[in-house]
Parts: sequence; structure tokens; C-alpha cells
Amino acid sequence: MLAELSPTLIAEVELATKLLKPAQRICILTGAGISAESGIPTFRDKQTGLWENYGVEDLATPKAFIRDPKLVWSWYQWRRQVVADKTPNPAHHALAQWQYHAQSTEQQLTLITQNVDDLHEQAGSTVTHLHGNLWRHKCGQCEAPVQEQARDSYSSQNTVGYDEALMTCAQCGGYIRPDIVWFGEALPVDEWHTAENAATNCEVFISIGTSSLVYPAAGLAQSAKQNGAQVIEINPNPTPNTFVDITLAEKAGIVLPLLIEEITAL
Ligand code: NAD
Ligand code: ZN
Repeated sequence: MLAELSPTLIAEVELATKLLKPAQRICILTGAGISAESGIPTFRDKQTGLWENYGVEDLATPKAFIRDPKLVWSWYQWRRQVVADKTPNPAHHALAQWQYHAQSTEQQLTLITQNVDDLHEQAGSTVTHLHGNLWRHKCGQCEAPVQEQARDSYSSQNTVGYDEALMTCAQCGGYIRPDIVWFGEALPVDEWHTAENAATNCEVFISIGTSSLVYPAAGLAQSAKQNGAQVIEINPNPTPNTFVDITLAEKAGIVLPLLIEEITAL
């Protein structure tokens, strides 16, 4: 119920509803914040346990993999374990519901994510992944895709050390790496094309749970704005985006179900 929110937030949700209800082309970009309420740490959260002394540059760059492939692979094995038993939260479910509802209306919703988890898919959404997928691997040398490892072989009960066994490519002997876009790497061409198209052609752009610091994804909201779209941001914390029209400063799992209930109401 809307009444659970503060009066300021209720007013913003009402403004957002007015904007979104009649809009025909809507582009939605999600980031790590939408999965935070499912228990998946964001990059801005401090790394814990074994990994607390490592930064993103030690763990998620091509250089890091060349320097210490075991360390990088072990970190991803650990992340897979963290994510393995996580499930979608009310924010993922609300977006999936809205997509389902939009099939019988004039609305065209394009959902783009920077996340490498599959919680949008688990909730039933169709989503474009800009930064890859934690559950897919590829060869670090010849890029051949590698058969997915069974999800249930990962359990949050297991412990992951720094020396997880590396896999090698059957074709060229190179080390297998996660099929994830690391810092400094290019985004997948087709997915980026979908995102750019949706952002530049939408009437409303919604940015959810992203710090808007990682480019080029962070530039999508700007492109939308420059092409005449209104921009809505859902994030309990401020971001560098100064051009946002409506800010819903609350957790996505709280505000999205309420907003989408309003939008899809008759
Ligand atoms: P980020 O970690 O930089 O920022 C997360 C943002 O979410 C912050 O601005 C924070 O204020 C906000 N946030 C926290 N809790 C929230 C909530 N409950 N509701 C709404 N917002 C909330 O993440 P990013 O912007 O996605 O970019 C960094 C990179 O991190 C991406 O490339 C992404 O691939 C990667 N990443 C992905 C996952 C995942 O797949 N779940 C997790 C960590 C990092
Ligand atoms: Zn290979």
C-alpha cells in the first residue's frame, strides 16, 4: 500500500505513475542494487572474508586474470556459491509482472541489466545482459564457449579457497574464464545495440539500483535524456546523475511493487 511510504515518496510515486501509465516505450536499466535485497552484495559493499583485502582491479580485469588466474577463478567460484541459492525479491517479481501485463497493452518495455546473476529470468522476465552471465564460461584465449557447470554443484555450505582448480580449453589449452565483461573490456555488440536503441527511443527511462559509475552502461540514461526522455531513478542513495526528473529514494523491493501496482491498475 502506498500509505506505507513517506508523503514525499508518495508524491514522487504518483508523479512517476502519471508519466509511466500512458508511455508506450519504456527502457529499464537495473544494477547490482536490485539484487541486494536477495542477499547478493553489490560492488560498493565491502568484500568480506577471504576477499576483503582485494579490490575490483585484482579480481575483475583481464590483467588480473593474466597475473593470477587461480585467484580470479576462485573469486568467481565464490561468487557463484553466494548466488547459487538466491532467489528473486519483490522488485524482480514486480518487473516480471509488468512485462507480462504489457503484452496485452500498447506498452513496449525493454529490460536491460548490468547484473550477472539470473534473478530477472528466475522471476520470469525477458532481459538483456550487458555484462555477461555468472553461469556461463568461455575460453580466455580462443573464446570458445564452455558447457555450463551444474548449478547444484555450488552450495553456500562449501568453502572456496584461493586455489580452486583451473579448467583448460579442450580446443587450445587456454584457461577457462567466466563469460563476464571485465573492467576495461568491450560490451557484447548485439546486447549493447539493443540497449542503445531502447534508451535513445524511449519516452521514459528508469534506472534502478545502479551507482551510475560504470560506463558505457551509465551513459544510457544520459542518451535517453538527450533524446527527450524523462528519467526516473530508484535508489536509496544519491548518484552522480543530475538530470533525473523523478527520484524514488527507497529500496527497489519496497517501491517498485507499489509503483507497478499503480501503473497496472485499471
Ligand atoms: P554498484 O555496486 O556500483 O551500485 C549499486 C547501487 O545500488 C548503489 O548505488 C546503491 O546505492 C544501490 N542500492 C543498494 N541497495 C539497493 C536497493 N535495495 N534498491 C535499490 N538500489 C540499491 O552496482 P552497478 O551500478 O550495477 O555497477 C557495478 C558492476 O557490478 C556492474 O558491472 C555489475 O555487473 C557488477 N555486479 C553485479 C552483481 C549482480 O549480478 N548481482 C553484483 C555485484 C556487482
Ligand atoms: Zn580455447
